[in-house]
Amino acid sequence: MSNKIMKNEEEWKKELTPEQFQVCRRKGTEPAFTGKYWDSKETGMYRCACCGNDLFSSETKFDSGTGWPSFWEAVAEGNVATEEDDSMFMRRVEVLCARCDAHLGHVFNDGPKPTGLRYCINSAALKLEKKS
Ligand code: FE
Repeated sequence: MSNKIMKNEEEWKKELTPEQFQVCRRKGTEPAFTGKYWDSKETGMYRCACCGNDLFSSETKFDSGTGWPSFWEAVAEGNVATEEDDSMFMRRVEVLCARCDAHLGHVFNDGPKPTGLRYCINSAALKLEKKS
């Protein structure tokens, strides 16, 4: 993994769309079934919309029925970070880009085999690099 990317709010605001900024830098959540990738079956690498860090492979994407792109594994352990999140009166585990601290979504323990994990990720936090 490359070095940490640190930018201030103004810099991120300039580079991101308002929706990306709201999700990634303000820990927002896009409405279910509205994002670009929840139903995508294309193959490739899902990268961080903020910094381009490799996050999830389409090979680990599955249909969770939630309306958000869902994966059972991150592409590499060091590429995503997790943190306890007690907001919204729930105990959840937040998923972040390890390189730029972008908020990506949350991870739950009700996913499919082999990991049993369900990374529930906002489309706005992702950029699919299609495999040609
Ligand atoms: Fe990032």
